[in-house]
Amino acid sequence: MCEFCLKHGEGKKWYLEARNYSEDLASDVNRRQMITEFFEHPEAASKFIEKTERLQTLPKFVREWFVYLITRKQKKIHYGQVVPIEDVEKIFELTNSIVRVACYCRYSTLGKEKRYCYGISLSPEGNVAEIVAGLGDSFLTGPDTSGFEKLTREEALEAFRKHEREGLCHTVWTFRTPFIGGICNCDRSDCWAMRFTLSQGVPIMFRAEYVGQIEADACNGCRECLRQCQFGALTWSASNKKAVIDQRWCYGCGICRSVCKEKAITLVERARCPVAANLW
Ligand code: SF4
Ligand code: SF4
Repeated sequence: MCEFCLKHGEGKKWYLEARNYSEDLASDVNRRQMITEFFEHPEAASKFIEKTERLQTLPKFVREWFVYLITRKQKKIHYGQVVPIEDVEKIFELTNSIVRVACYCRYSTLGKEKRYCYGISLSPEGNVAEIVAGLGDSFLTGPDTSGFEKLTREEALEAFRKHEREGLCHTVWTFRTPFIGGICNCDRSDCWAMRFTLSQGVPIMFRAEYVGQIEADACNGCRECLRQCQFGALTWSASNKKAVIDQRWCYGCGICRSVCKEKAITLVERARCPVAANLW
């Protein structure tokens, strides 16, 4: 289990612990302030990205020190984890409100409204949505948006299945850990957290509690899965004419599984996979 499970999950996966979505946590003054500033100033993320891109120019030991500091801070403030769709479904069963909103990252990187993010809450009105609704000039509530879309669990799950077919990776996010306010659907080019984590080597999110595994006998070598993986974990064996997952690189998102018509791909618990058990 990841360190958040140990600290905030009481022996379970931390994002399946109802307390981490509670109104009690959402009512914390510092947390509300953080959420307010986060959504009021999406341009701050762009500036942060620009600054961290300069990390590549620093000597290795200086860079590693900054990476350590940034990651430590992000773990406290806004950190995520990849979750497969079956765990998204369990999260939806836990919560009482699902609200679809414009994606913060895509707004700050592309300047466009793309509705790939979901506020989730134990409160029927939605904790984060209720806070953000008070921000008159927020990008989420400005004149070009149609406001928040409240979805039923079934509608939200259907939308997530569509995102999965699009090849997007589901991730949970904290607003001052351990409070979880949302689930996003990320890709490497537009999502700043994925870019940090994968392209710049600054971890802003954990891998899933799972890893992918291919049943070689079931694989017909169609290569459909190779196009889905955003993490570089899938390769092609020319000699066997089969797809292969390198579990050391696998984030356990399950997106490859969703396109495999042969059902050759499964997710297994990361803890039971010796080469990946301690890779987060
Ligand atoms: S999609 Fe399935 S059958 Fe096709 S290559 Fe990948 S694992 Fe094999
Ligand atoms: S190989 Fe791993 S990281 Fe890549 S799509 Fe499949 S489950 Fe996700």
